[in-house]
Amino acid sequence: MKFPVFDLHCDTALGLLGKDFYPEKQLKTNQLHIDLDRASKLPGYCQFFACFTTPWEKLPHPMTVEDVFERELNAVLNEVNRNPDLIRQAFSPEEIEENLRAGIMSAVLTIEGPAGFGFAPELLQMLYTVGFRASTLGWNEKNVLIGSHKTGGGLTDLGREYVKECQRLGILVDVSHASDEGFWDIIKVTQAPIIASHSNSRAICNHTRNLTDDMFRAICETGGTAGFNQCAPFVGDKPDLDTVCEHILHFLELDPDGEHISLGGDLDGCDVLPDGFTGIESYPAMARRLLERGVGEKIVENIYWNNAMGVMKRAVCHHKK
Ligand SMILES: [Zn+2]
Repeated sequence: MKFPVFDLHCDTALGLLGKDFYPEKQLKTNQLHIDLDRASKLPGYCQFFACFTTPWEKLPHPMTVEDVFERELNAVLNEVNRNPDLIRQAFSPEEIEENLRAGIMSAVLTIEGPAGFGFAPELLQMLYTVGFRASTLGWNEKNVLIGSHKTGGGLTDLGREYVKECQRLGILVDVSHASDEGFWDIIKVTQAPIIASHSNSRAICNHTRNLTDDMFRAICETGGTAGFNQCAPFVGDKPDLDTVCEHILHFLELDPDGEHISLGGDLDGCDVLPDGFTGIESYPAMARRLLERGVGEKIVENIYWNNAMGVMKRAVCHHKK
């Protein structure tokens, strides 16, 4: 396969930590959905590594939600830094391209659920400096910023401030997990391209985590992109690679040039994947299936790499660390 892979969402950061949130696994080789040995066989790779936090019901004493956030961040940085010949942290789209040319994979930090830093927009400057380049406003619960796809409820005043501060810095605002109402509130105030890092088509799989056609069109209008999620419940009933293609083909009816569809596998964030997709090593098989189903090479290349790069170039500040 000649298509490099740019994936907008994984939960591997949490996967690297054990049950008690102590470092347990290595990124180089592991039994998770993503490891560097398998990813290095791809013809190029950039991964958004989400640091996921939620108001956990039960954390092992004396862990706090802030500790979990820091431990995930630390796990990603440690594991990236111990494999400098394979992968490097990227702070800008230009660095991702430089790494690709040099045969080095790229890791970009992202936020899934700002609970780990108190939902505080005033801390985003620090997080930007550390390298965070995308953020959802929440996860499955309602919080002080926004309602979720499970609870409903729109964007709050603090949520509007959060969006504004992300966009001032050059952090992509990610609508995955937002309520429908919250989604449209974000669209009303956004000044930059929006991403849905890991959300599929609701017309193909009727789930509140997926995007309606109108939502997908609205994302396209901002110059943003939607990342295809491999989590089986968001793909379909007993899904396989053809079910995956159905989502992409449907989005292509709304976006015929294929400029707003990306990958956001949710790998290591879900238990069941489509039949024929086992982890990061399966992206070439998915590309072959898309080509067999009549998607043009240029469009597959867009989905696999160019669209995510494009949105970063339009929305993320260019200065390096
Ligand atoms: Zn998620």
